[in-house]
Amino acid sequence: MRSHAQHSMLQREAGGVLLGRHLLDSSDLVVDEVTVPQRGDRRSRFGFFRSKQHSALAQAKWAASKGTVAYLGLWHTHPESDPTPSSVDKHDWEKAVAMDSFQGAELFFPIVGTERIRVWTKSRNGPIREILELRDEHD
Ligand SMILES: [Zn+2]
Repeated sequence: MRSHAQHSMLQREAGGVLLGRHLLDSSDLVVDEVTVPQRGDRRSRFGFFRSKQHSALAQAKWAASKGTVAYLGLWHTHPESDPTPSSVDKHDWEKAVAMDSFQGAELFFPIVGTERIRVWTKSRNGPIREILELRDEHD
């Protein structure tokens, strides 16, 4: 995700889906991979529309892994250092939780800014809230 951070004025928003695992006996989860921008996405400096190809890819990976690589949420970038969700983002997240099929209690929604990655989550019935405990095993 970081490789798509919008450091230059010319870079457009990017995004995709999060794929990974819920850890047994823990509320932790591990994001193993993310889908990257696909043909069919509509991208601008201040907007990202995810095409259906991302959910098709997620389905394919889930099937190929025999159900171990799960759909965990949606990520996208913002051209700001400390990203905050727009009303469009919040609407998109509410819709994902309401309409998408997923395992577990909630979906996760990282926004990749130029300095920080922040992550929000939403359960089926709860409000959108920010997650403050993040670990990046690649740092
Ligand atoms: Zn956004």
